[in-house]
Amino acid sequence: MKQRFLNFMKDRYGWDILNNIIIYLSLGFAVVNLFKKSEVLTLTSFILFSIALFRMLSKNKRKRAMEQLKFFNLISPIYSRLLKFSSKDRKNYKYFKCKNCGQELRIPKGKGKIKVICPNCKYEEIKKS
Ligand SMILES: [Zn+2]
Repeated sequence: MKQRFLNFMKDRYGWDILNNIIIYLSLGFAVVNLFKKSEVLTLTSFILFSIALFRMLSKNKRKRAMEQLKFFNLISPIYSRLLKFSSKDRKNYKYFKCKNCGQELRIPKGKGKIKVICPNCKYEEIKKS
């Protein structure tokens, strides 16, 4: 049985990260659907699941790999922005942009009014921290 399955899968693309994401989305929709009971959700969940299945069984490995690559190219700017946003220490620092050149600056919080000099253009600004 296992050998049969391996033979069947031999020339096929198999599983990748994009498929993981698609399956999680599909499951997510299915779970929401348990409470919402909407036909659109059922259909969306089913379609996503079918796409994942189709990609796994596809013999066009190149095309599937390109899909995944395109997907990552698409989300990487969003992802890196999210990462940047979450990595900021917003509890201890105040973030703002230099009025003169737009350079991102930060000052420690709770120090009262302080003079900030932009390291990029040397523009001076008084900021409340
Ligand atoms: Zn500046």
